[in-house]
Order: sequence, then C-alpha cells, then structure tokens
Amino acid sequence: MTLVSTELRGRTAVLLLDNPPVNTGTHAQRAALAGALADLPADLDGVVIGSAGPHFCAGSDLREFDRELADPQLPDVIATIEALAVPVVAAVTGLALGGGLELALGCDLRLADPRARFGFPEVSFGMLPGAGGTVRAPRLVGVPAAVDLVTSARQVPADEALALGLVDAVVAAETLLDEAVARVRALRRRRRTRDLPVDAVEVDLDATLPSRARPNVRRAAETVVRGAGIPFDQALAEERALFHELRRSEEAQNLRYLFFARQATAKDLRGPGTARRVESVGVIGAGTMGAALARTFAAKGLAVTVVDTNEDALARLPDGISRSPALKELAGADLVIEAVFEDMAVKQELLSAVEPLLPLRTVIASNTSYLDLDEMSAGLARPERFAGLHFFNPPDRNPLVEVIRTARTDDDTAATLAAVVATLGKTGIPAGVGDGFVGNRVYADYRAQAEFLVEDGASPQDVDTACRGLGLAVGPFAVADMSGLDIAWARRKRLAPTRDPRQRYVTIADALCGAGRLGRKTGAGWYRYSENAPRGEADPAVDVLIDEARAKAGVSARRVSGEEIRRRVLGSMIAAAAAVVASGVARRASDVDVALTEGFAFPRFLGGPIRALARRPTDEVVETLAAVYASCPVTFALLEPASDGALPTAVAALFDEVAPTVEGARS
Ligand code: NAD
Repeated sequence: MTLVSTELRGRTAVLLLDNPPVNTGTHAQRAALAGALADLPADLDGVVIGSAGPHFCAGSDLREFDRELADPQLPDVIATIEALAVPVVAAVTGLALGGGLELALGCDLRLADPRARFGFPEVSFGMLPGAGGTVRAPRLVGVPAAVDLVTSARQVPADEALALGLVDAVVAAETLLDEAVARVRALRRRRRTRDLPVDAVEVDLDATLPSRARPNVRRAAETVVRGAGIPFDQALAEERALFHELRRSEEAQNLRYLFFARQATAKDLRGPGTARRVESVGVIGAGTMGAALARTFAAKGLAVTVVDTNEDALARLPDGISRSPALKELAGADLVIEAVFEDMAVKQELLSAVEPLLPLRTVIASNTSYLDLDEMSAGLARPERFAGLHFFNPPDRNPLVEVIRTARTDDDTAATLAAVVATLGKTGIPAGVGDGFVGNRVYADYRAQAEFLVEDGASPQDVDTACRGLGLAVGPFAVADMSGLDIAWARRKRLAPTRDPRQRYVTIADALCGAGRLGRKTGAGWYRYSENAPRGEADPAVDVLIDEARAKAGVSARRVSGEEIRRRVLGSMIAAAAAVVASGVARRASDVDVALTEGFAFPRFLGGPIRALARRPTDEVVETLAAVYASCPVTFALLEPASDGALPTAVAALFDEVAPTVEGARS
C-alpha cells in the first residue's frame, strides 16, 4: 500500500497522505512522507500536503508510544518540510489533531475545508504536544490562545481556527486542492511559521487552569509561555525532551491503557449481531431517571414518548417530548425502556402489559440497577428481544451505560442496544446478570469497606480525605450524602433475608437512616449541612451513633492511617472485580476499569482500580489484600490466599490482563 502518493500538477507537487481510515501518524506513514519529500523533483514551485481520505491526520499512533520511537520521528519530517526551498501548503480536510495539527503548522499556509477540526489532545493522554505544537501555535494565534488550545485539548472548528489565525482560509472541500495549488504558487517565497515573530507574555496560570489540572497540563502551559521567550530551536528541543519524559510517565501509560480498553470494549459490545434502526424511543416512568433519559434521547434527535401513571410527573417533562398515561401510545416505538420503581413485581407486571402492544421488532430494555433480569423477563413472549440498559445518574451527564444480556437476549438485540449507546455518544460496557452488574457491584464493596474502616476507628472525614488523596474528587460518605442514603437502605432491607449471617454488617448507615438523616436532602446524613456549611461538616451526633454501633459490634476503635484506608478501599474494589470477572458478569478485567473511570469518577490517571493496584509491587499487593480479607473473611473469601502471603489466582488473572508487561512491578 502506498501511504503517500505524489502527483505533479505542472511544477507543483501534491502529496496525499493515505493511511485509512483516519490517516493515523504511524512510523510507516512518517517514513513514507519523508521518502516522498526526499524524492521530490528539483525545479518545483511549491508543495501541497493533503489527504486521500476524509481526514488530514487524526493524530499519532498511541501504540508506538510505549516503546522508543523509531526514526524518522515527526519533528524530523517537519524539519525536512521547513528545509525545502519552496513553499508548502497544508490542505486540511476533516481532523487535524495532535501530530496532524503539528504537521500542518510546519507548513507555510493552512487551508481548511468547512468541516475541518483542529486540536491538541495530548494533555488528555498525560503528555503535551511534542513536535513543535507548543512553539509554532503561539506564532500564529498568540501565547494566551495557544495556552488555551494546548491545555484544554478542545477541538476547534474551521471557522474558529480561521478567526484565531490557526488557518489562513476556509475553502469548499471540492476546490480545496485546486485552491491550495493556486495559493502555493502565489506565495513564491517561503513564509515558515518558525520565522514569524511572537510576543512573549506573562500568563497567570493559576487563574487560567482548572484548580484540579494534572501536573502535565501545567507543564504544557509553562512550555508554551517559556517557548515564546527563548530561541526557536531551543524551545523545540525543550518541548521534545519534556514530551519524551511525559510519554514514558506512569500516568501517560495508564491513560493509553484506558484508551485501548475503551476501544476493545466498544468492539465487544457491538458483537456479531445486526443492529436494527432506532428512531423512536418510548420511556416508561417519568421519575429521576426516566425524565432525564427522555431529555437525553430527545437531545440526540430521536422521537420520544414518555408514559407514567403519575400525571404530575408527566407535566414536568420539557416541550418536544410526547407524553401519555397510556401504554398503547408506545406502539410505534423502536425501543422501549422501563424506568419505573425498583420493584420486581411492578416491573414484571408492566412488561407483561406492554409487550403485546409493541411490534415484533421493538427491543425492550430495563434500567434496573440491581434486579435479576432473567427473572424479570421470565414471563415475556419474546425474551430474546429484552435486555438491561443500565444508565447511571445523572444519565444526561454520566457517560457510562451497561448493556446487560440475559440468558436469552439475542445478538441483534445486543447489537441494537450497542448502537443506541453509540448514538448517545456514551461508553457502553457489556455485562451479565448479577446483583449490581459491574459498576454498582464494585462500588458497593468499596462503600462497604469504607464503613468497615469507620467501625474500625476511622471517622467519615478520615475516609473521605484519604480517598481524595487517591485522586477521587469526592469521598464515599460525601457521595452517599449527595445521592441520598435511602436507596441503599431499601436495598439492604431487601437483601436482609438472604444475607449470610456470618457476613460483617455495619449498622451505622441504618442508624443514620433511622434517625431521619437521609443525606443532603434532609440537611443531615454522614455530615450535617447548613448555610454556614453547605458542603457539610462533622457532626458530634454522628460520632455518638458510630460509638454505639462499635460498642454493639464489640469493636474497640483504633487509629487507622490514611495509607491503610487507601489500600483497603482499593483492595476491596479489586476483590469485587475479581468476582465479577470470574463469574462472567464482566467480560474483561479492563471493562471494570472502564466502568469505574467513566461512571464513578475513579481517577483516569491511575487507569482504574485494577490497573492502579496491578502496578504496585507484589508484596505490597498481597499485604493489602490480606488486610481486606481480614476486614471480613466471608465477604472477601476469594482473597484468603493473601493471608498466607500468596497472590490470589483470580486477582493474578486480572493483573495479567491489565498490566501484562509491567517490569519490576510484580515478580
Ligand atoms: P423514581 O421513583 O424517581 O421514578 C419512577 C417513576 O415510575 C415514577 O414517576 C412513577 O410514577 C413511575 N411508575 C411507577 N410504576 C409505574 C407503572 N406501572 N407505569 C408507569 N409508570 C410507573 O425512580 P428512578 O430513581 O427514576 O428509578 C427508576 C429506575 O431506574 C429504577 O429501576 C432504578 O433502580 C433505576 N435507576 C435509578 C438510578 C438513580 O440514581 N435514581 C440510577 C440508575 C438506575
């Protein structure tokens, strides 16, 4: 395959990048471009670089970043372009991101088709632009705008790129190459970005960057600012050195791991089936989830009809959404999602009532958080058209969706739901039937461990502070107060009859609920809330409840360190992950990391809970898992080998999948 083609139009050479589907900048692609530049005939009047496909270049191939990069590297190719005697124009269609944008910046002019988009995504991969982006961009758009582009990682459409000065003209796609040829001929002399002046200005980074910006983001901003005040080649060299340092960092490796994990998951989710078209959606239940789901679908242009027996709930829906108390109004829907009360009998009765009203093609999905979907669908005439579609609150903002196949869900139904998730722009993971599926199941063990830690002697603030130290924005008790303590309370009551009596059960949350402390909405939960303390403050009344619960459980409080807290909450998530993967509820270990980072705000820079622990030395991991086992040998039975100093098999299997090549981390 020719990765770069050369066509001569008179004395102008037109080079087209041709590495489908998105012209990813691979080593082979760079070598082909370098070769094409070296082979250019003498006596040209100009060169145009464009693309044979819809995208100029969507960025460098991240797969190459885990090893030493092979020559020619992108800065070498750009230096070759800058060393040519004749002007070079970039003709940009579609995406010019990362290395693609840097390549365009290495040209004398940039023309863009109206649908082109430009951006530096590098900081979201733990790095910074490494092929002159931080040095050339300020020469076109000024230092403050370059800081914004580099640190926000946002994509800029063609018209904004024109207004900023990043591109020189926006030209209809059909005439883009002709116009580029005309412009390069008209240039006559070189007008390299590197020769343009730039004003070095001070930028108040504390005011510009988000307070929780990662260190690489700040360093990227500093590089832009500093580069404008030092000689061009020195700035390039400093940027490159930092790029290599960050590229090799633990954080960048974790972010690449998650990127590939999300890709693998999306492929699994599509599966072998054929997706049916979904243009109209029926939602049953106009409560917290149903109303937000209706808005989410409507915002994507789908026709939405909501049914609820409660007319007040229907009245609260926004315009543009059809509503009715009658299920028969759903008869035309391609997809029906039920989001009624979390009650098996209510849901089963509803499904039996709605199924006969729907055409054969309609897929029915349940948004249940915990209930057994096999049992729920037992009475359906066409259970193969039924599955779980589990959104997380708030579904208009939370990107995670679990697509849960029952024993009888067919491939086309699964593929249809995968396509729906993609239409919504969300991250779907495949899951099987099991209490809490993947995300909530893992989160539940994290929550349970947080409560064990409080019973052992930590305060809720100790636990929340330690978890923030791990990188979470909010600790588990503050989260519980935000979402309300009553849902989990109802679940505990539901599970009480089947709970193993040997299982450790902390009664503090029940005591809080019993005292009417249901979280923020009641002004008190694990913390108390007031005008003076809108984010909550410690409450001596909670300490009393905690002391009572400890006394009842026969536990004498001891000092629990932040390190112990961090290890035990992480270890509990790993134990739950091992259980969901071993039972087949999660398809891959990395799906758990995707679920926790997408849906539960687990810090991406750690790569997810499994990846985070997999990168630690084995003896530390075993010690951690032994502590988790000791916290409740029944709940964490799977970790028993850790108490004898061995890495439990189920955990070793997870680690092999998420960090197979880590050197020095495990022996
Ligand atoms: P909700 O109580 O806010 O709303 C439920 C709505 O369903 C109410 O408006 C009620 O009038 C309506 N309803 C009940 N029975 C009905 C029937 N037979 N026919 C028509 N309408 C009926 O509940 P919610 O929090 O939106 O939860 C709905 C579902 O979504 C539950 O299964 C829940 O587990 C799940 N879920 C909730 C969350 C969350 O955080 N709230 C997150 C993920 C999933």
